[in-house]
Amino acid sequence: MATLRFEALKKLDERVKVHVEIPTPNISQFFGENVFGIEQMRATLAPAVFKKVSNAIKNHEKIDEATADAVASAAKSWALAKGATHFTHWFQPLTGGTAEKHDSFFDALAGIERFKGSELVQQEPDASSFPSGGIRSTFEARGYTAWDPTSPMFLYGRTLSIPTVFVSYTGETLDAKSPLLKALKAVDTAATQVCQLFDKDIQHVVASLGSEQEYFVVDKSLYMARPDLVMAGRSVFGHSPARGQQLEDHYFGTIPSRVYDFMREFEIECWKLGIPVRTRHNEVAPSQFEVAPLFEEVNVANDHNQLMLDVMSRVGEKHSLKILFHEKPFAGVNGSGKHNNWSLITDTGVNLYAPSSSARDNLLFLTFFITTIKAVHEHADLLRASIATPGNDFRLGANEAPPAIVSVFIGAQMTAVLDELEKKGNVKIEKGDNMYMKLGIDQIPEIILDATDRNRTSPFAFTGNKFEFRAVGSSDNCATPMTVLNLIVADQLLLFYEEVSNMIDKGEEKRIAIVNVLRKYIKESKNIRFEGDGYSEEWVKEAEKRKLNNIKNMPRALDAYLTKKSVELFEKHAVLSHKEVEARNEIRLEGYIKRVQIEARVIGDLAMNHIVPTAINYQSKLINNANGLKGLGVDNKNVVQTIKEISEHIDTIKQNVRAMIEERKRINKMTDTHKRAIAYCDDVKEKYFEMIREAVDDLELLVDDEDWPLVKYREMLFLR
Ligand code: ADP
Ligand code: MG
Repeated sequence: MATLRFEALKKLDERVKVHVEIPTPNISQFFGENVFGIEQMRATLAPAVFKKVSNAIKNHEKIDEATADAVASAAKSWALAKGATHFTHWFQPLTGGTAEKHDSFFDALAGIERFKGSELVQQEPDASSFPSGGIRSTFEARGYTAWDPTSPMFLYGRTLSIPTVFVSYTGETLDAKSPLLKALKAVDTAATQVCQLFDKDIQHVVASLGSEQEYFVVDKSLYMARPDLVMAGRSVFGHSPARGQQLEDHYFGTIPSRVYDFMREFEIECWKLGIPVRTRHNEVAPSQFEVAPLFEEVNVANDHNQLMLDVMSRVGEKHSLKILFHEKPFAGVNGSGKHNNWSLITDTGVNLYAPSSSARDNLLFLTFFITTIKAVHEHADLLRASIATPGNDFRLGANEAPPAIVSVFIGAQMTAVLDELEKKGNVKIEKGDNMYMKLGIDQIPEIILDATDRNRTSPFAFTGNKFEFRAVGSSDNCATPMTVLNLIVADQLLLFYEEVSNMIDKGEEKRIAIVNVLRKYIKESKNIRFEGDGYSEEWVKEAEKRKLNNIKNMPRALDAYLTKKSVELFEKHAVLSHKEVEARNEIRLEGYIKRVQIEARVIGDLAMNHIVPTAINYQSKLINNANGLKGLGVDNKNVVQTIKEISEHIDTIKQNVRAMIEERKRINKMTDTHKRAIAYCDDVKEKYFEMIREAVDDLELLVDDEDWPLVKYREMLFLR
């Protein structure tokens, strides 16, 4: 009997309800109580000091030492009063996730609690074990973390956590946050310049992000009894349950009570940390859920998402639940994404992607709308690369997630508007004409009011007042796609500005110049627009005709980072140097290889040590039975048939596992990282994973349930 599985299942009956207490139903009374941000600084710093800090934050400038000392001192007092004992620089290394190294405020030599401005501003963790893609060799392990004052400090447990960037001694960036901050600065500069063609009062443009986080929940004991979930974050075997998501009864259904309690508790913890979580619901697959916060400035929103993942994992533990952020933990049911809702908002409060009731403002809206589509058209492959993770390879194009082909959905109404603008652009506009009326631009607000159509199959969709980048994976750090998206839009906006300025210099009227460039962009970027079913076979063919790429796996997708065009783009806006781009790709490829290696080992071990022995044992029972039947003169044809089938599956498993091991040995000798990653993708993952899985999953249906060692899908996916 398969003891581990049945013991794990027995634990389910022992689960008791975890009591969750909300401090007060009035969330505003405790929202952000563990945050030391701009408001807390305003309250605790001298007005002159506060002004310096807030200006530095707004203008992306350095903070001087005296100011940093004042902030550190105020933060320390605030944290100590709340029971903190330690502080840490909190950063996002390229391994994924977040990292921290705690120091106590208590200085034993001086016998007092201390926190200096220099400690707030910079730390030097011995970070030799973080990947640097060859930039920083281990023997000179110096990397340092530097305070990011644009994201608030927070008290986590008893530790004051300070959001920081992580850079090497020689100044190269080693984290996810640094390039994001640079891309956000680039888009601020470019968008402000374009806005000033319309409104001189606009001084800054801020990018916003609202990320909808999908995740799976499984009982902790069941998780522990699945070595594949523990080691690889996804189940490598498991037959689909008789009932999956076909009844479509999970989506928006009643939340199971254990999960509901877990959600309530992690939301409370998030609110205390100033994370504005708002929406919760069941997702499409059984045991799949979603949480969405209110949107915030991209950098803060992303820090909050990273922190939220940690909060969810910790609170999950308390509820004996494991929270799975992998993009595809279970085959046969939907995978998980992290839809990035994104827009640009001016410091005068205008959402640049929201059409308005004034025709003049709609030209501003159309400028950003069309330029963004053009940017996606120009850099579609780079955008595809930005969402490449090992887990997302299982999801993109798997008939339920956005396809790996990048396209933009804008809805029937906006399509009509762009078609109109393109056509009517031929109309000659004279001085004194009402250009807006002639072009039909003043009709947009009416149209948009009922623009409710949604396309769940598009990787990049306009949703009325924002774009939704739906192809981002659930485990990913949004900083990576957000860096690329903001960068490509920044670049396109600058090009737009240059083209318009050139026309104006040649004597063209400003509005006409703007419309002319927009018309050109509409024509040039038409190919990237797709309104149909992104999951369909026809789209794959149509995209091929349009010469849009369909890059199905991570090692190949990453090539787009290294093209001359991409490298120039990163360098032009000082987001990443050529060396940094190369180093990052090296790290990603290494990460990919390791993940496939781990999965291959898990598959091999589970198949050979768990599945094959189980199948042989069961087969022996059948052989006894067949012999017994024969002795009695009873027909044993069916039993013999099953014995043969089991033998065939065992052979398939053994042969393929052996061959896969040989392939790995061969590939491991390859020195070129890129070639090795491609080989792991094609010659290990693609060639063997499914083949072995099919044989194992068939055996699951043949072998007596009592004997089966792995917790089954139906047991994991329907939480009790
Ligand atoms: P959906 O219908 O896609 O669920 P919601 O209005 O619920 O749309 O928004 C989903 C996410 O988009 C939320 O996180 C929300 O805060 C965010 N969002 C809304 N408006 C914007 C915006 N202008 N910029 C960025 N994110 C936004
Ligand atoms: Mg959405």
